[in-house]
This record gives sequence, structure tokens and C-alpha cells, in this order.
Amino acid sequence: MSPAPRRRAIATVCLSGTLEDKLDAAAAAGFDGIELFEPDLLASAWSPAEVAAQCAGRGLTVDLYQPFRDLDSTDDERFARNLRRAEHKFDVMTALGADTVLVCSSVAPDGVADPDRLAEQLAELGGRAGRRGLRIAYEALAWGTHVSTWEASWDVVRRADVPAVGLCLDSFHVLSRGGDPAGFAAVPAEKLFFLQLADAPALHMDVLQWSRHHRLFPGQGSFDLPSFLGHVLLAGYAGPLSLEVFNDVYRQADPMRAAVDGMRSLQWLEEALPAAAGPRPLPQAPELTGHSFAELAVDGVSGPQVAGVLAQLGFTHTGQHRSKPVQLWEQDAARVLLNASVVRPDGAGVAAVAALGLESADPPRSAARSIALGAPVLPRARGAAEAELSAIAAPDGTQVFFTRTGPEGWPADFLPTGNAAGSGAGLRRIDHIGLTQPFDSFDEAALFYRAVLGLELRDVTEVAAPFGLVRTRAVTGSHRGVRLTLSVPTLRRGGWSPGVPAPQYVAFLTDDLVATAVALREAGAPLAPVPANYADDLEARLDLPPDLLAAVREHGLMYEEDATGGYLHLATQVLGDRVFLEVVQRIGGYDGYGTGDTPVRMAAQRRARTATGV
Ligand code: MG
Repeated sequence: MSPAPRRRAIATVCLSGTLEDKLDAAAAAGFDGIELFEPDLLASAWSPAEVAAQCAGRGLTVDLYQPFRDLDSTDDERFARNLRRAEHKFDVMTALGADTVLVCSSVAPDGVADPDRLAEQLAELGGRAGRRGLRIAYEALAWGTHVSTWEASWDVVRRADVPAVGLCLDSFHVLSRGGDPAGFAAVPAEKLFFLQLADAPALHMDVLQWSRHHRLFPGQGSFDLPSFLGHVLLAGYAGPLSLEVFNDVYRQADPMRAAVDGMRSLQWLEEALPAAAGPRPLPQAPELTGHSFAELAVDGVSGPQVAGVLAQLGFTHTGQHRSKPVQLWEQDAARVLLNASVVRPDGAGVAAVAALGLESADPPRSAARSIALGAPVLPRARGAAEAELSAIAAPDGTQVFFTRTGPEGWPADFLPTGNAAGSGAGLRRIDHIGLTQPFDSFDEAALFYRAVLGLELRDVTEVAAPFGLVRTRAVTGSHRGVRLTLSVPTLRRGGWSPGVPAPQYVAFLTDDLVATAVALREAGAPLAPVPANYADDLEARLDLPPDLLAAVREHGLMYEEDATGGYLHLATQVLGDRVFLEVVQRIGGYDGYGTGDTPVRMAAQRRARTATGV
């Protein structure tokens, strides 16, 4: 018999909105319970009993009431007052049907330093709670005045020695201080009252600010949460897996989407547990081996422009879709679809990446996993003779198709144009696709690609671009057949945006960028003009071979290198309102994306647009 599924909960503080919004979102995403954050109750028109009824009506339990702050005090009168405050909260909890309250370690100057006296005060509270059938889950805040590690909180709980007093373990507080979760094994299971899960990016900053603003859902940051949770479960914890994420973006984001994102993070986490096979197994992620195509949505103005540039890049218009105004352009294994069927009411000249074709070892299983992880499945109108394609929507709206390219697959939907492919310009396949994310969905997208598609997250980098800081993170397939770069401004954009606000690009791989660049220039491709200052700096910084440096200068190439190899790349001007094309050459084991050259490329594209009056 398989074990019962673990209960999943989410703290209301994770979600934006009023308590009604939060409960609706938590229930819709499939959570079993909530942690009720006290300010959400205070701002609610519902009485505690009504909150209990509203939760029950949505299939939710109130698993934790939180937080109760600054219990202990060196001032006896103040401690007595704190006990009276606690008794009032116990009344509230009873009405809520919540049996556990989170008491966090004191941050007050009058907090008790002596562990025995602190344990005595916690035991006094625990005795009162126990008589009412309630429990105290004691949590060490990473910035607590005297108790700031989980070991210190366990020491106090152990000394208090009251059945109603146990631990709340919070992954942020433990891992942000470099705590070792292996030590949980020493804690009796019945003392592990509650577990709060949060991830976070690797940042060097004050731990309080880190916690309040930058927590993330599991799988979005840098903490090893599968190992952390593995230790907690090994120690015998049997309560809910509960998310507690304070994050500036999620506080503003659509709570329905955020709750789905949170649920996906717990599904990912349980699947990643060291013990493998959880009680709610997901269809395994099939390997994604490559980009089968990039689909660009174009209109009457941008369509001919993009088609012209594809021709200059050595592509041939080889196929026309049977039932839709979609062109197939090919060069070796690089394929681009130009789709003019997308309705674009906002005006002419719109060009955007509409879809990614990803080659899957098992497309139906890729689709089944996506559904299990809450990804929206897109309805497809399809002709009788056309291949069945499963498509889902990524967080930024980009469609993701799981394909198998072959005579029976999607290419059969295209009738040959009769155009013979020319010699091309050396472009072999799509290397990667770059997508600027909406401000609210950068972290959601990282988890989406990691959990739903089974891709790997690379480190986050930031570059100072001409129109603001840009944060970029790559996601890759295990053998690098699939590569995406996700970008986002580090601040929400204002109205002044003379560059392209949310650029997207498709990068093609060549084995010889210098030869490709010669062919592109002869064909008149509109390349972004890289300034001489850039090449001068390269010459000063690096010992590049003279012929390579000369080619960089002559053709306006960009070059980056690291310990593993080098990266030559060029970019076209922006086509339509936001898309450009890149050609790249990877030298040695280089695994990056030339991100450091982003400011030069963006400035070059801005100059080109200004010069052409676009
Ligand atoms: Mg906490």
C-alpha cells in the first residue's frame, strides 16, 4: 500500500489580495490547508468562526495561526501581559479551529538570554495552551536577539519539556545561516510540530531584508530543499508541507497564478526528494533533445521584413502550411515558422516569438506531465491531414509544442513550395531562444521550465544595460540541445523606454562565424553596428589572434571568453517591434550566452532604429 499523500499548505502571506482572494486561490490550486497570517485576519470582515466556515467551505483547514511575537521578557510584568495577549489569541484559534500557533524567537531588547528562564516562560505558555488542546510551535528567527539558530530553539523546547511545546522548522531560517539539517535526526518526531518551506536566491545581504523581500518558492532559488526536506521527513515529521514565502513580486502578483506556482513548487520538491517515488508520482519528464522550430508571429508589415532577413541569413522558404497562413523556412536543421494568422489589433509591425517547438523523446508524456503540474493546455484547431501537436502555455504566454520531427510529424503539415534550399550561410540549428519575461513571471518561469519541462536552471546574472539593469537566467536541457535565456528588468519599467522594452531573439549556431558574417554582409543582412570602441577594448583585454581581431573589427562581431572557451556572436537589428536574430559560434566548452556584451548590442540596435527612423 502506498503511503497517504502528504498534506500541502500555503501561508496567506505568500499571496496578494484580501483574505477572500487568498482562500479562493489556495483552494483553486489544490492546497489542503493554510497558515493564517494574523494581519490577514485583522483586515478581514469575517469573524474567526466565519473564517473557519469559509475555509471549510473551500476544503481548507487552518493548519497554523501566525505569528505570535516577543513572548519572553526579562520584565516580569511585560511577560504577564504577553501571557494575557496569548490567552486572547488562544480564543481566536479555538474559533478558527486552528490547534497550532507559531511563536517566533524574540527580537526585542528585553528578550530572555538565559535558556532556562526562557524555557520556563515557554513552558508556562505551553501549559496554558495544552490545557486548551492547543500547541506552541517555536521558531528561531535567523535574526532573533538570543535564539537565532534551530539548535538554540530546540535547546529551549527540550528544556521546556512540555508536551504542547514543539519546534517549527523554517527552511529559510535554517539554511540562510548555513545550518545543518542532518541534525534534525536528534529531535524526537513528536517535537516536530510544523514545517515551513521557502527557497531564496544566493545573496549577500542582511538576513532580515533577504527574508522579507527575496524568499522564493522551492525550486526557484539556490537552497538545497530536497536535501532539507529529506532530513525533516527522515526525522519523522508527519505534518503538512507548508509554503511561507515573503516576496515583493508575489505580494503584487495575481494570487491565482501564484498559488498554482506554489503548488507546482511542492510537486517539484516532493519529486526531487532523495528517497524518490513520492506518494503522488508525476509522469517523468521525457528528455528534450533540441529545438525543432521557432515560430514568430508576424503581420503584414513585419512578415515580409522578417522573411527578407531570413533569406539574407541563408534560409529558404520550403513549406506552406496546409490550412493556415504559416510559412516554413529552413537551413540545415534550423527551422523558423512565420505565422501571419495571429490577430494583432495593436498596430502594424508587430513581430514576436509565439511558440517554441521542442523535440521530446515522448511528446504525450511531456504533455501529461505538464497537465499534472498545472500548466495551461492550449486548444488547437487542426485539419484532418495534420499531425496532432500538444501545446502548453509558458508563463509569458509563449506556446510550447512537444514535437517529434520526421516524415510523420509536424513537417507533414507543410506543403512543399518547390523552392530548393540554397547553400545557406552555415547556420546549422537553433542554439537558443531569448525571451524577456513579464516583470511578475521571471521566477515563475524558471520553476515552470525546471519542473514542467525538466530543464536545468543556470545561475542568475545581472548586466547594466543602457535602459536599466537586466537580470538573465538560462535554462538548459541536460545535453544542451535545448537552451533558453530568460530576462527581466530588475525594476518594473517606467514610461521612458526608448529601447525595445521586451526584446526576444532566436540565436542560430554556426561552426564558423567569420565565414557566416562574410556571407551575411554580402547578402545585405541588417546587422547591428558594433562600435570600434568595443573591438579596441577586446584588443586591450585579450590576446586574440590578429586575424580574429581583424574579423571582429571588419564584421562587427562580439566575443566573450571564460575558462572553458570562447563565444563569437553577432545580432541583427530589431525586426518589427521586438524580435532580432543572432548567429553564434561556440568555441571549446563555452556554455554561456555572451551576456556581458548585452549593453553594446542594445545600444547598437537603438542607434540602428534611430538611424532608420523605426
Ligand atoms: Mg517562518
